[in-house]
This record gives sequence, C-alpha cells and structure tokens, in this order.
Amino acid sequence: MSHDTPTHPASAGLSVRDAQACIVGKIHPIGTENIALEKALGRVLASEVRANRDLPPYDLAAMDGYAVRSADTAAAPATLEIVDDIQAGDMPRVALQPGQCARIMTGAPVPAGADAVVRVEDTRPGPDGAVEIRLPVPTAADIRRRAENMSQGEIVLPAGTEITPATIGVLATVKQAVVEVYRKPRVAILSSGNELEALHEPLDPDRIPDSNTHALAAQVQALGIEPARLGIARDDPAELSRFLEQGLEYDVLLISGGTSVGVHDHVRPALAALGVTLHFWRVEMRPGHPVAFGTSDRAFVFCLPGNPVSSMVCFAQFVFPALRALTGHRRLFRRVLPARLTHGIKSRPGRVEFVRVALTRNADGVHEAASAGPQSSGDVLTMARADALLIVPADSRGLAAGETALVQLLEAGACQDDAGLEGDA
Ligand code: AMP
Ligand code: MG
Repeated sequence: MSHDTPTHPASAGLSVRDAQACIVGKIHPIGTENIALEKALGRVLASEVRANRDLPPYDLAAMDGYAVRSADTAAAPATLEIVDDIQAGDMPRVALQPGQCARIMTGAPVPAGADAVVRVEDTRPGPDGAVEIRLPVPTAADIRRRAENMSQGEIVLPAGTEITPATIGVLATVKQAVVEVYRKPRVAILSSGNELEALHEPLDPDRIPDSNTHALAAQVQALGIEPARLGIARDDPAELSRFLEQGLEYDVLLISGGTSVGVHDHVRPALAALGVTLHFWRVEMRPGHPVAFGTSDRAFVFCLPGNPVSSMVCFAQFVFPALRALTGHRRLFRRVLPARLTHGIKSRPGRVEFVRVALTRNADGVHEAASAGPQSSGDVLTMARADALLIVPADSRGLAAGETALVQLLEAGACQDDAGLEGDA
C-alpha cells in the first residue's frame, strides 16, 4: 500500500459529533476489579452497594438540649425534673415519666417516653435538678428518626456511580472497605517525527521539542490513569512499526504526528499493516482535522495530529470521552456552558472551530470569554493560558462581540478567582 493511500475510504464531511458517536459506540468498560476504599476516588462502582444497618440506628437528638414529652411543654413555661444525662455513645438509663426530662447531647439516643427535644437556647436553669422549658415544642421536634438516612438492605449507591469524596463517605458509612470498580485501561503514548527532541536529550536548536508526549500524558493523568510513554518513533516505516507493535499491546494507544497527507506520514498505513481497522480519518474541525481512530483485536487507537494544540483539542473531543467510557463513567463529555464574547471572532464556515479562551465572571454573574492569545495550532502557550474552548459552529462565519456561545471547560476552567457568593450577606 502506498503511503498516501487512505487505509479507509476517506470519510470527508465527518462531524465531531459523528466521530464521537463512532468511538463511543465501539467502547465498553474493560472488566472490573476489587480495590481498597482508600484507592477508590475517581473510579466508578461496577456493582450496587446496599446499607448494612439502619442509620441512625435509633431515634437521636439533632441538637443539644433536653429530651421531653412534648405534652409537658404545651403550657410552657414549664419546669421539668432532670432524670438522666445522655451523651452521644451512651444508652438511656431511664424512661421518662410525665414531668420529667433528660439532658441530651447531639447524636445521643432519645430515651423511651420522650417524643421531642427542646434546644438548650429555649431553656433556663431551674431549681436544683430541674430545668425551665420556655416554649412549647411539637412532637418529633429536633429528633432524627431511626433509619431516616438509610435502612438496612436498601440500595444506597447503584452500579455506575462515580466515586467522589462524598461517595467515599457513603461507602465508609456502610463499611465497604473493598469496592468493585471498573478497571483502568492501560494507555500508551507515542510521538512520531524525525524533527523531535526528547525532554531529556540535550538542546539542539535545529530540532523541535517533543511536548505532545508530556501534555497528552498529563491529560491522561487528569483522568486518574498513569500512561506509559513509549518515546519517539522516526518517520521510518520499519521503526514506526516496531513502536506501534509495542503500543498495540495496550488497551489504548495514542500516537501524535504523522497522520496527515505528507509523504512521510506513515502512521495510518503502518497501523493497517498491523491489523488495525481505521474507522475514520479526518474530522471537520479546526484545529485537529487529520485525526483518525481505529481498533485492533484488543486496542483502541487514536492518531492525533502533531501540532501541540491540535493533539490536545482532539484529546478533549475524542480520547477523553473514550477513556471515560472505558472506566465506566456515564457522563462522558467535558462540561459546556454559555459565555458572552468580549470581542468578535472570525471563522471560515465548513468546520467547527475550537477557540482557546480565558473565562471571567462579570458583575452580573455572566461568564465572559476572551481570546487567550494567538490561535495558531502550534501555539501551546495560548493553550496553557486558556480556561476553555469556545465552540464556533461549523456553519458560522464568525461571532460578534456580545454574542453568546458555548464554551467547553478545560482543566484550568474548573476554578475561579472569587467565591461567587454574591447573595451571601
Ligand atoms: P505532523 O502531524 O507530523 O505533520 O506534525 C505537525 C506539526 O506538529 C509539525 O510542526 C511537527 O513538528 C509538530 N509536532 C509533531 N509531533 C510533535 C510533538 N510530539 N511535540 C511537539 N510538536 C510536534
Ligand atoms: Mg511529522
């Protein structure tokens, strides 16, 4: 096969959305494993989790105060005899009779006979061994009922739940020290190009530093996966094949560079020769047009354009959802939100365009997007300054200042300068 023959009929006109659908349609989680709760943050539950006890285990006080019979407070102020003092962790010793109460602390079990808790602020010290209740309290006031949070046997977390810090709290609550989660894929990263200089090689002013290996690895790491860095393959079919063979041992192989139409772009034919079926090549997007996706018996293969920004933008559109799907997530895509443009943006119609923007929130709480700098696909500095990718639709000739468009949040876009608590008095 000649180097410039597409390995698959050119799928001209493929939209980003169709390319994503093609990828997601072929991907499913790759098995499960049991891991310690301490290691589970960011993973996805592969099986449902049930409550192993009632919580709370008994009716308990929601506030510090006095457990009372609410009927005794109906004609408040009322003076009640204190017959017990119950702390969290204690069990009540006495059942309340009419006219009696028990001092009780938050989290302590409510004694038999009591049906409400009076907050300490609503009481006054009484004569020796007694307390004055200043206000009537209704039945059930400030009592958390047995099993109101969870009851034994109930499903508390369905399979497919993403494990967040709060989920860890739930899992610890039901004493799940070991959890079944979807396995992480093994991911390999390969750079290709004769001009590339590795991070630890001495600086040669005539070469181009390999940044893609590291930026892509970091995009993978941000998903909780530690990738293997295979290094740099020269634009030589034999050398490239050796590297690709190694890469196809992994679940996912990311290759950057050598996927375009240059005479030295050998990646696609070399993959085809190794039995990889390419499902698409070229997507109507800017940057990132020459991106390709294929599968072998076991590996998912992404051919990313060599330009540093193109490879990162393609990662965000295609590899990110693929790795999310492989790890069992249901929400596959990066969050988008509307933002108002602070200036006009020109665009050539035909391809959806991803513009690197910085985001701010104005005094009305509206997000505003401004270009993060020069938009050449080689300008990784602009990528580093960007909070988000502004999406200019394929049919657009550009957007005017003040128009609203969707922006896709990058890692840096997840936090902001101010607390956003305008309504907080
Ligand atoms: P290619 O996709 O191989 O045609 O490369 C497109 C451009 O991206 C060229 O200017 C390459 O030098 C550059 N490039 C390719 N691979 C990398 C890399 N790993 N790191 C930085 N730049 C790269
Ligand atoms: Mg190249």
